[in-house]
Amino acid sequence: MAAYEYETHEYDVVVVGAGGAGLRATLGMAEQGLRTACVTKVFPTRSHTDAAQGGIAASLSNMGPDNWQWHMYDTVKGSDWLGDTDAMEYLAREAPKAVYELEHYGVPFSRTEEGKIYQRPFGGHTTEFGEGPPVQRTCAAADRTGHAILHTLYGQSLKHNAEFYIEYFALDLIMGDDGACQGVLCWKLDDGTLHLFNAKMTVLATGGYGRAYFSATSAHTCTGDGGGMVARAGLPLQDMEFVQFHPTGIYGSGCLITEGARGEGGYLTNSEGERFMERYAPTYKDLASRDVVSRCMTMEIREGRGVGAEGDHIYLHLNHLPPETLAERLPGISESARIFAGVDVTKEPIPVLPTVHYNMGGIPTNYWGEVLNPTQKQPDRVAKGLMAVGEAGCASVHGANRLGSNSLIDLVVFGRAAAIRAGEVVDPNDPNPTPNQKSIDKALDRFDEFRHANGTTPTADLRLEMQKTMQQDAAVFRTDKTLAEGVEKMTAVAAKMDDLKVTDRSLVWNSDLMETLELANLMPNALATIHGAEARKESRGAHAHEDYPDRDDENWRVHTLAKVKDTKVTLTYRPVHLDPLTKEDEGGIDLKKIAPKARVY
Ligand SMILES: Cc1cc2nc3c(=O)[nH]c(=O)nc-3n(C[C@H](O)[C@H](O)[C@H](O)COP(=O)(O)OP(=O)(O)OC[C@H]3O[C@@H](n4cnc5c(N)ncnc54)[C@H](O)[C@@H]3O)c2cc1C
Repeated sequence: MAAYEYETHEYDVVVVGAGGAGLRATLGMAEQGLRTACVTKVFPTRSHTDAAQGGIAASLSNMGPDNWQWHMYDTVKGSDWLGDTDAMEYLAREAPKAVYELEHYGVPFSRTEEGKIYQRPFGGHTTEFGEGPPVQRTCAAADRTGHAILHTLYGQSLKHNAEFYIEYFALDLIMGDDGACQGVLCWKLDDGTLHLFNAKMTVLATGGYGRAYFSATSAHTCTGDGGGMVARAGLPLQDMEFVQFHPTGIYGSGCLITEGARGEGGYLTNSEGERFMERYAPTYKDLASRDVVSRCMTMEIREGRGVGAEGDHIYLHLNHLPPETLAERLPGISESARIFAGVDVTKEPIPVLPTVHYNMGGIPTNYWGEVLNPTQKQPDRVAKGLMAVGEAGCASVHGANRLGSNSLIDLVVFGRAAAIRAGEVVDPNDPNPTPNQKSIDKALDRFDEFRHANGTTPTADLRLEMQKTMQQDAAVFRTDKTLAEGVEKMTAVAAKMDDLKVTDRSLVWNSDLMETLELANLMPNALATIHGAEARKESRGAHAHEDYPDRDDENWRVHTLAKVKDTKVTLTYRPVHLDPLTKEDEGGIDLKKIAPKARVY
């Protein structure tokens, strides 16, 4: 057994992650008087939320008629009828409240002439249940909305005396013999000490796992650590086969050009100079939802109408827009285009390509953020002491495809919901659970094994192999053949985890060891993704299967659950929630309006 000393910290709640979701949860818990610690591997305002550009969706009706039912309808349709109805209702209804709350906390939103919050159009957001014109629903702070929100929430959390543990890397959940979570074991990166956070409630807000792929818009820190910890605790991951490709990553670097660029009037062209989206989505054109636009771009490239020397990308035009609009509404992406593509957006088009952007799947939760540990008989059974919010979680409001600007609102609505729920189930007067020594020893042994790993494969080499396999075999278009090959290749890649070589044995600022732990977290996320995709014999949202081009509601309107142990993945399924929170005659949505139908834009 590995001999390590660790310091124990007792809290009511420990939140792992300080992105938008983690900070909103932390703030809410602290506000209710719960002793709350927030543990984060990067400085809070360096979390990936900081990079969110376009905005946050809420039916404020500041720039034309809108309401929560239209927002809910668009979310249901965007999810390709895989989202949970109760959670989607909660999101759409609570959204305006959550945005006004952010405004009052101090988020510097862009403004209309009359001083109201500025809202821009975004893909898939419509009026009149998809029958009317696009709606302006996405609230924006120029093209730096995530930055504005994150800095404001960090300030508010400090004000409410939440305690931050910055540059602490969470290693593993500590689980009781009764299956309840008792906290998390962490490694302090700058001095190498170990810390046990013992808590009545642990909240995972660790973000997505975009870095399982070769080309991604997400930060290098988006390594699915929460999903990895959950998989090791024997709990399932949900709907992992649904990975969103954003239509406009800058060709080469993968750096994001916000959908807000098309919201402000930008459009795509092929090598013939044609605005091809008019052909595929006659009504909403370049503002169809992301999976649709990404597939159309891929089809144009495959059929020989890509641009550039190798005909392998597409152009995004902003050069017809007034330079003042670009300077005022899209200053950040104008700069990104200059730095990463050498393009002056006022004069030339930007070379773009669909790039991995968001993980619809994650740790299954109910709409209070409580993690689920389903059985066949009890598909909504709650795992005690554990919550998940933000991109790490799967509530599920995004189903098979997330609409742009629906993630930032998910962070704050469900971060807040988790805090409200914790206020109900956590009693500060109760004693903390006694930490399970077996679980602690297991986590320490695993940490020690990686620290002394002495095989032949460097971490960076194995990571690249995983990323290339995922990019190639779990991409925008999928076939039985690519997926079967992908499963085989990923199983072989994952098996090499036993042959890793870590060269640095120190505990202080050991980035080699940290990247190895991150790779060990990415791996179960990647395995669950490719296995879930291989098993799903239909096309739905981001999962476009060429051998099964149609959606199959009769057999496949179900959530995939994946349990991952080493290289093995076991799949089961649980029903999608079809009941709304509010009955129609009590002011709920007309269920006929959200009944499944063909998804055209
Ligand atoms: C470039 C880009 C632009 C986007 N634009 C928009 C947009 O305009 N609108 C929109 O709605 N959505 C947008 N999205 C999506 C949205 O920003 C993300 O889904 C969201 O910010 C994720 O927030 P989060 O709080 O879940 O996680 P993150 O912001 O990724 O934060 C994760 C946190 O977890 C911590 N953490 C992770 N692992 C560990 C560990 N092992 N130990 C300790 N701490 C850990 C990190 O330190 C960090 O604080 C965008 C995404 C990208 C990549």
